[in-house]
Amino acid sequence: MTITSLLIANRGEIAVRIIRAARELGIKTVQVYSDADAEMLAVRLADAAVNIGPPQAAKSYLNVEAIVAAAISSGVDAIHPGYGFLSENAVFADAVDAAGLTFVGPSADTIRLLGDKVSARLVAQKAGVPTVPGSDGRIEDIDAARTLVERIGYPVLVKAAAGGGGRGIRAISNRQEFERLVPQAAAEAQSAFGDGGLYVEKLIGRARHVEVQILGDGQDVIHCFERECSLQRRRQKVWEEAPAATLPEKIRNELCASAVALAKSVGYRGAGTAEYLYDEETQAFYFIEMNTRIQVEHPVTELVTGIDLVREMIRIAGGAPLRFKQHEIKVSGHAIECRINAEDPYKNFMPFPGRVSAMSLPGGPGVRFDTMLYPGYEIPPFYDSLLGKLVVWDEDRPAALDRMGRALGELKIDGVATTVPLHQALVADKAVRAAEVHTKFLEQWLEDEPLGEDQQREVAG
Ligand code: ADP
Ligand code: ADP
Ligand code: MG
Repeated sequence: MTITSLLIANRGEIAVRIIRAARELGIKTVQVYSDADAEMLAVRLADAAVNIGPPQAAKSYLNVEAIVAAAISSGVDAIHPGYGFLSENAVFADAVDAAGLTFVGPSADTIRLLGDKVSARLVAQKAGVPTVPGSDGRIEDIDAARTLVERIGYPVLVKAAAGGGGRGIRAISNRQEFERLVPQAAAEAQSAFGDGGLYVEKLIGRARHVEVQILGDGQDVIHCFERECSLQRRRQKVWEEAPAATLPEKIRNELCASAVALAKSVGYRGAGTAEYLYDEETQAFYFIEMNTRIQVEHPVTELVTGIDLVREMIRIAGGAPLRFKQHEIKVSGHAIECRINAEDPYKNFMPFPGRVSAMSLPGGPGVRFDTMLYPGYEIPPFYDSLLGKLVVWDEDRPAALDRMGRALGELKIDGVATTVPLHQALVADKAVRAAEVHTKFLEQWLEDEPLGEDQQREVAG
């Protein structure tokens, strides 16, 4: 069942990334697009393109019927879902299967087991992986939840079982907040994910976000070591690194082994990431969720391991066994990724869609820019604000930071506001350079040292 043609059920930079991997494998590509995306780079690069409907994601990129119909009519044999949209949707994976097509990702059953965060916690516990103290299942009713929370002790997080992208999560530090915020969280989860189910976790303060990349072929599972993604805003990653700068070797080994054990316990097939919070003080780590798909920040792992993760996931979906043994996977040097968003960092990160009038991209040794931009491209207002990912590699972290500073200086995107100035400030920050960060660091930093208006350069173009 080797894959010879692939439909990309996504957009933006990840669609471009998948087309590149497919082309190198000699696979023909078909790109779907909404009415708002006819001019996107992936449409220009793919061998063929199919319109799947109106701009609203619910009618296009989340439209299972339209996407499966596009795959059938274009005669592809597989579908890559990218990240976000339908990538962790078991109903979609089932529909792809039922149409006789290959889904580039784990089985629908695996997605069901691990995509629901409450179920994933139970799978982790069974595999001996430590989870955050919290509820055993979904919160059945508000009274049971209150009793549970008072037993765990405030502060807690109430989280959406179907959550993603940092949404449907509320921090709660007392009884009053509990009464006020739990119904809010349920409503947000219902409207964002079509599932109002909630669960509770103890809030882990001053933690680092560390995650383990795994690859499985249904028989064996290997890990490609870890990434650190502690710099976040509204629980969304902003900056990622590999390896985690301050993780003790013993903890690194335990963490990676636990991710492999978890994935093995479900016979995992494809690329996946087990996410954890790491408490430096106690050296304890806690599993928080599994992402059963390629992640935004996968390039930092690619740069330190030399493995093309997107290529591997396509090969695995085509039936190939893992091509690497665990002992063959080595980490070399250090990689950093800055997410470049069309947002105005001087105006509370307000989204800033518009036309890219001109641009000039960084290059040189150890620099990679995964983007969907081209000069003249009109960024539509309907989707995620991610424009590209600036990723650098160098022999160690200090050198990688210097290289990132140099590359950010070369990156010019005219016509829209971007998060480049935020990253320039971070790259120069003492605490960031010393890797003294945690998941609340960036929000506190933005409060304490707001990016000065006087530094603000006019949006050129
Ligand atoms: P990663 O986990 O790869 O770092 P993000 O959490 O930033 O990536 O998610 C990538 C994209 O997918 C974002 O656009 C985010 O809003 C979206 N996303 C992630 N999980 C879900 C989900 N369960 N439902 C809907 N959108 C999601
Ligand atoms: P999502 O699916 O939206 O990515 P996650 O469960 O991965 O949700 O959590 C997103 C972020 O929220 C984490 O990276 C972390 O910063 C924060 N977070 C999640 N759970 C906890 C917790 N129990 N304690 C403290 N912070 C948490
Ligand atoms: Mg997460």
